[in-house]
Formats: sequence, C-alpha cells, structure tokens
Amino acid sequence: KKITIAIDGFSSCGKSTMAKDLAKEVGYIYIDSGAMYRAVTLYSIENGIFNGNTIDTEKLKQDIKNIRISFKLNPETGRPDTHLNGVNVESKIRSMEVSSKVSPISALDFVREAMVAQQQVMGKEKGIVMDGRDIGTTVFPDAELKIFVTASPEIRAQRRYDELKAKGQKASFDEILENVKQRDYMDQHREVSPLRKAEDALLLDNTNLTIEQQKKWLFEQFNK
Ligand code: C5P
Repeated sequence: KKITIAIDGFSSCGKSTMAKDLAKEVGYIYIDSGAMYRAVTLYSIENGIFNGNTIDTEKLKQDIKNIRISFKLNPETGRPDTHLNGVNVESKIRSMEVSSKVSPISALDFVREAMVAQQQVMGKEKGIVMDGRDIGTTVFPDAELKIFVTASPEIRAQRRYDELKAKGQKASFDEILENVKQRDYMDQHREVSPLRKAEDALLLDNTNLTIEQQKKWLFEQFNK
C-alpha cells in the first residue's frame, strides 16, 4: 500500500494541482513544502532579514526556531491555507516579491534542516502527499510512490501568469518566465539538496497534457 507520496519537479509545473487532487481522492493529507520556504522568505522580508540583495543569516539562524508554519483548511476554497506563526499568509507568499527571493533562502542549509524536520513530523501522522523539490530524494527517500514532473519553461510561465491573473494579481509574462528560469537554475545548482529526480521516481512531462489527463495518469500510478 502506498502511504507516502512524493511529487517533485520544476517551478510551476502543476505539482501542487496533482498532489491536491490525489490527496483529496484518497483521503490523505496534502503538504505544499514550497509554501514553507515561501513563508520563511516572507518572514525574512517582513523582519528586515532580507534587505535588498543581502540576507542577515545570523539573525535568520536565531529566528528559525521560532518560525512555525502550519496549514489550515480554508472552508471557502476547500484547500489548505499557509499560516506563519498563526497568521494566514496564503496570498502574501504567492507574490512576485516572495517568488523572486525564495531560492536564496531555500539554499541555506539551516533553513532546509528546519523545514525538513517539520516535514518529516507531518509525514508521521498518516497517508501524505507532499510536493516540492527534494521530497523523494531527502525528505521521504522511502516514499512508496515518487513522481518527478517537468514541462517547458514557457508553458509553466503561462500557467503561473493565468493563475495570478485569475487572482487579480499583477504580473508580466516576461517577468514570470524570467523568474521560472532563474529558480530552475538556482534550485538545480544549490549545494544542499539540489533539485534532481530521484533514481526511482517516475518522470512525467506534462507540457502537452491537460489537467484531466495528468490526473488519470497519476491515479493509475497510485493504484498500480
Ligand atoms: O513549489 P514552489 O514554487 O512554491 O516553491 C518555491 C521555492 O521553494 C522553490 O523555487 C525552491 O527554491 C524552494 N523549495 C525547495 N524545496 C522544496 C520546495 C520548495 O527548495 N521541497
């Protein structure tokens, strides 16, 4: 039986849609690990740790112990919202500012250590679907099902553009495409847990798949 499901891949490739759908279908918990790195980034911006291009790593190292991230079901959307020390930050962590600053924060070893520890505790409860960059390689190397998702940068940027637009947030397509490419590069080239496919992960390129086709494929893998 598959209890732990790891979905990793590039930025904005539909990992979270897949993970949410599967979790809902099979009654598992869904955890968006990227939201946790985004929340740490928001904390750093709001508390003067991330200033311009510099990060006060000493202060963040001290504060990280007091950064609590949790997920609470939003009855209106039926999906979990991210809370940072008890405050709902779901919409703030999706801003372009956070997107453009999250990669250097997530490259810090002590930040990863703290987040991975919290993620492993969440995975102890019951069936879990977690999406991110290092779930199959580092967080849950023993996951019973591992998927690695990819798609062309252009289609990923288009999807994020449509998503932000639907939420009424301003962004330019070129800016998003640049951000997607930059994050891909930084996530793949950082020293700690770089983004890579686990050897035993199934590869899914969804460039030409609809959400429905992708869902069907995922459920088939789960039920195998
Ligand atoms: O998944 P999402 O795009 O929201 O993730 C935001 C960023 O958080 C990624 O670009 C990456 O730098 C970082 N991340 C990570 N490890 C994870 C999930 C996200 O380093 N497991």
